[in-house]
Amino acid sequence: MKYTDLKIQTQREFSNNARTPGFGWLVRAGYLTRENELLPLGEQAIVHLQELSAKPGFLSLLSLPTIGNENEAYFPLSTGNIEVAHCESCEYTERLELAQFQKTPLPREEELPLEKVSTPDCHTIEALANFLNIPKQKTAKALMYTCVEDNKFVFVVARGDMTLSEAKLRNAVGEIKLADAESIQRSGAEAGFASPIGLKDALIVVDDLIPQSQNLVAGANEAEHHLKNTNYGRDYTAEVVTDLALAQEGDKCANCGNPLAIQSSINLAARSGFNFKNILLALAETHHDDKGLTLPVSASPFDVYVMHVPGKTMNTLEKAEEIYKALQSAGISALFDNRDERAGVKFNDADLIGCPVRVTVGERGLKEGMVELKRRAEKDNQPVPVSDIIRILQK
Ligand SMILES: [Zn+2]
Repeated sequence: MKYTDLKIQTQREFSNNARTPGFGWLVRAGYLTRENELLPLGEQAIVHLQELSAKPGFLSLLSLPTIGNENEAYFPLSTGNIEVAHCESCEYTERLELAQFQKTPLPREEELPLEKVSTPDCHTIEALANFLNIPKQKTAKALMYTCVEDNKFVFVVARGDMTLSEAKLRNAVGEIKLADAESIQRSGAEAGFASPIGLKDALIVVDDLIPQSQNLVAGANEAEHHLKNTNYGRDYTAEVVTDLALAQEGDKCANCGNPLAIQSSINLAARSGFNFKNILLALAETHHDDKGLTLPVSASPFDVYVMHVPGKTMNTLEKAEEIYKALQSAGISALFDNRDERAGVKFNDADLIGCPVRVTVGERGLKEGMVELKRRAEKDNQPVPVSDIIRILQK
């Protein structure tokens, strides 16, 4: 395609909203607007990626450091909108909200008798643990929801040091919303001092660490009071016992025990298909230098950047166009910079756009039947006979 047909406009400066280098280079090279909308060059890149995606192992062809599982592929990026738990050792990868990890139960204890204690102003786990001078692990955290489908009151218990994953809860009981004051009251629970003991018409769901935890402090279902030494099995049971806890950075991988890392990521592929715009961004984050993009041959929308240096006595534009057409006929995709610009401007733009090879047609070389070939990754030009270009590029 011709540079002028794609209406490419490169930018001299990074936009001040470029939060990552890859995004900054895509905007400067004219693939994207500052508002992250595709420009014609970006659309061309996406079309190329779409065609390439028909090939088996598509993502592996792009030289991207992806992480993933059999359903999804991610690219770690600081601005990514998805938190992913990843094990570097066994490659286990899962969305954070569904990630599994090894939980460590506290040492088993003799079950002690229930004891009601006054706990004024202890509305949070932190306040309660401080007041009783116990670790958060020795408390039971209560969370209350309503099942959207059947309006059933759902009472959730997790160890006080754990964070509930609502996604895991949804997988266990279906769509949920936070319980309102009326349904909490109807069940006999006391908000802020709630426990599963003695509730009416409640679906009790507990994290699988709870049955292994003895003598936890839980609410007394009475304002300003808690119960010491609550024990699952003796004092209450649950309809559902399952993993409900959100993994944290450093938790042990469920497969191999290695610490999990939590990484902000963008999604490149899901069962429903590829996210080509995110793939383009991942390519730019991975493949750039201090002059612009350095796209791998597989990922570049064009194999070759063809340009002419305006001549004094020869029509270099015409000759460059001939070469451009010959490349296309040979099945080599080319971006033809047909602008009447100074060489330096074009060299800079070629570096920004990042095609793997640049072919420069200039008067001095043409007199010898030569053009200049420069690979994006290399520093030096290589003079090659016009008649050899296609053979060399097809290698
Ligand atoms: Zn692992």
